[in-house]
Amino acid sequence: MPNIFRRRALSAGRLDPLGATPHFHYGLLAMKITTDIQLLKYRRTKIVATLGPSSNDAETIEALIAAGADVFRLNMSHGTQESHRELYERVRAASNKAGRRPTAVLADLSGPKIRVGRFPEGGIELTAGTSATVTTRDVEGAAGLIPSQYEALATDVSPGDRILLDDGNLELEVLGVEETEVRSRVVTGGFLKNHKGMNLPGVELSTPSMTDKDKDDARFALALGVDFLALSFVRKAADIQELKEILATTSSSAAIIAKIETPQALGNIGEIVEVSDGIMVARGDLGVELPPQAVPLVQSQLIDLARKNSKPVIIATQMLESMVTHPRPTRAEVSDVALAVRSGADAVMLSAESASGKYPVQSVIMMDTIARETEAYHWQQDAFGSLSAADRNDHPLAVPNALARSTAQLSRELQVRTILVISKSGRTAAIMSASRPAAPIVATSSDPATCRMATLLWGVIPVNVTKEALRDPRTLSQHLARELGFAEPGQKILIVRGFGPDPVLDTPSITVVTI
Ligand code: ATP
Ligand code: MG
Ligand code: MG
Repeated sequence: MPNIFRRRALSAGRLDPLGATPHFHYGLLAMKITTDIQLLKYRRTKIVATLGPSSNDAETIEALIAAGADVFRLNMSHGTQESHRELYERVRAASNKAGRRPTAVLADLSGPKIRVGRFPEGGIELTAGTSATVTTRDVEGAAGLIPSQYEALATDVSPGDRILLDDGNLELEVLGVEETEVRSRVVTGGFLKNHKGMNLPGVELSTPSMTDKDKDDARFALALGVDFLALSFVRKAADIQELKEILATTSSSAAIIAKIETPQALGNIGEIVEVSDGIMVARGDLGVELPPQAVPLVQSQLIDLARKNSKPVIIATQMLESMVTHPRPTRAEVSDVALAVRSGADAVMLSAESASGKYPVQSVIMMDTIARETEAYHWQQDAFGSLSAADRNDHPLAVPNALARSTAQLSRELQVRTILVISKSGRTAAIMSASRPAAPIVATSSDPATCRMATLLWGVIPVNVTKEALRDPRTLSQHLARELGFAEPGQKILIVRGFGPDPVLDTPSITVVTI
């Protein structure tokens, strides 16, 4: 009996996105349901993998790249700057070793996220019905004593408020407050580990959006050379502006990602998307701050909104959560990843699965497999275009967006194999990506940072080339087609450039080239 789960496509060679197109059949499942799908050569949805104790050695990082990770996330809430520097250098080394495909690094700043402190044994057991005290004194925890460095805690909460711990898995009810001590009753118990998050739903936090630690971490990460800087618990555009001011004092051109995880951010979402370079749907905290059933609706609207603004959107948290401890995900998790892919998210993210789980590499392989299969089906149905249906009534469109959408249409009608983008800042690639064309987008740039930035964009294959090569796009396209195998002799491709927003500097052009 053929094994329908581990097919040829899972052997090492498949993992190179520039490799051969895998082709397979589900012989067993004939019936009337189509499961005989030819995978696309290039995965359109990108994979972000968080690094942590399970994945911090060079070998695992190389394996994660080979398995398909496009962006690595360093969570500044955990580990030290020194440990992040080491990880950063390992990623760069592994990425260089892996060859042409660029891999990017995203540093995730804690923001005003409240966390519990440390416990002598790594955690404590909290039993429902018992009492527990949260203290802001700088002490180690103990049975019934939970330290937290959030100094305003005792003034921000009042009796009756809920304190949620570890993405809402544990719950306390505030009974009373005395100076630095918050007395509470354990409503939902469980094991509370070091540094787990704390949420105070409905409580207006008095903390600033960027703490001193964030500012320090931001400067540190920018000096390292990270490609993306994400800010947690963004509440308004000004929070992002503050980070941009720090960015402006450096020579970095890192992109700023707003993590959307509070009700306040949803209220100010228009201005936040406007000033950010991309967003992350941080479902862990979002699902604690909002009722969980609101999260899928919010996710779907955020994906549409980001795409309308030609900005990348990452779907994060618990995507394959059970793979933290199990080699295979639940069917519900597989559906969740498939849905994110079908809704046109730019990237799906692994958190604890790759950072602290037992199966980091398998988690990436699983995500890659789900994305490829879902995309292949979607592509076969000619449905990528439907992803940009949401803004069909927004007339008039901005000129670059209208051009990108027409280019996507043209690419379908001419059945071109590739859309080759000549990009300086990456803006043309982002706008082209937002129109979700059927053909893959090969984004060429002479700037390695632009290439790394494009790693997050849906359907974009970044290729770093020399400045000279960019002067003659036709020759370049012939050369790349041969070298990367994205089109065969006789097939057509489109070359586009100049979709940037500047009417003087950007002269849009679209050329049809036969290879
Ligand atoms: P966030 O709200 O920013 O996602 P988080 O605590 O949920 O914070 P994740 O990055 O989602 O953190 O990772 C999930 C878990 O993996 C963490 O709670 C932590 O236990 C572990 N982890 C992640 N990165 C590290 C690290 N660098 N060192 C130690 N543990 C880590
Ligand atoms: Mg979070
Ligand atoms: Mg998380």
